[in-house]
Amino acid sequence: MIGRMERVDLHCHSLVSDGLLAPAEVVERAAAHGVGVLALTDHDDVGGLAEARAAAQRLGLRFVDGVEISTTWEDTTVHILGLGIDPADARLREGLERLRAGRAQRAEAMAAALGRCGYAGALEGAMRHAGDARILGRTHFARFLVERGAARDVRSVFDHYLVRGKPGHVPHHWAEVAEAVGWITGAGGVAAIAHPARYRVGRAALRRLIEQFRACGGTAMEVVSSAHTAEDTREFARLAAAYGLLGSCGSDFHAPGESQAELGETQALPEGVEPLWPRLL
Ligand code: AMP
Ligand code: MN
Ligand code: MN
Ligand code: MN
Repeated sequence: MIGRMERVDLHCHSLVSDGLLAPAEVVERAAAHGVGVLALTDHDDVGGLAEARAAAQRLGLRFVDGVEISTTWEDTTVHILGLGIDPADARLREGLERLRAGRAQRAEAMAAALGRCGYAGALEGAMRHAGDARILGRTHFARFLVERGAARDVRSVFDHYLVRGKPGHVPHHWAEVAEAVGWITGAGGVAAIAHPARYRVGRAALRRLIEQFRACGGTAMEVVSSAHTAEDTREFARLAAAYGLLGSCGSDFHAPGESQAELGETQALPEGVEPLWPRLL
């Protein structure tokens, strides 16, 4: 049973990807904020799950093994959450390894592009911010740019850098949606489209994405996300119900003070959407 007041958070990051807290610290912070069901979903890596699960066991939280996989769909980067996966699954691990290798190449190209507009040493800087992370991502470059005074905080870096049409952006091809869903379901997990409001595609394209996602075995969508307004949440609740997708809920927490939302602090899942989490416990 999930207690009435218990918070559910099925999307957050640790320093294994682009968060700032260790996996055990994420779990401790979640517990302190009243989260009873937690998934850690680092980008393209499952290296933090064992530590997080052990901490969750110690603290009495129910823990779900997760990952957030980068995919490319019709020129748009779409993130697919894998929830309830077996982190030891070989095909999943190989797929994620390929994505991390691609990230390393992209990082070199990003550093070269930033170098051309006056930010020398970006690769070394981003790697320093990445520290023990197992991936190199735009957030690490963003933290480097804040340090260099390019913007006042990580969020405002993305208004002027690292996005399409701005310095430091490098187009990149991630996994195919069908591949990522295959890795997730092959590892015993449920695939969920992450933060759908973030994709700047029209209504028709979104429906096409959902139809393709369902056709290859995807069964859930993140209806509640810190990236969503209350109106987005209502709209995606309607879409999830119309397509028979289970509804997920996550803060997308990365770091204290840096993220939109605190762990566990999310809107409620609207009536009419079947919650995903009872399937995971
Ligand atoms: P990457 O997967 O390396 O391309 O980086 C994507 C990550 O960059 C996201 O998961 C966020 O952590 C961060 N990010 C992207 N856009 C923004 C934004 N507008 N504000 C803050 N962080 C962002
Ligand atoms: Mn991130
Ligand atoms: Mn994401
Ligand atoms: Mn995320």
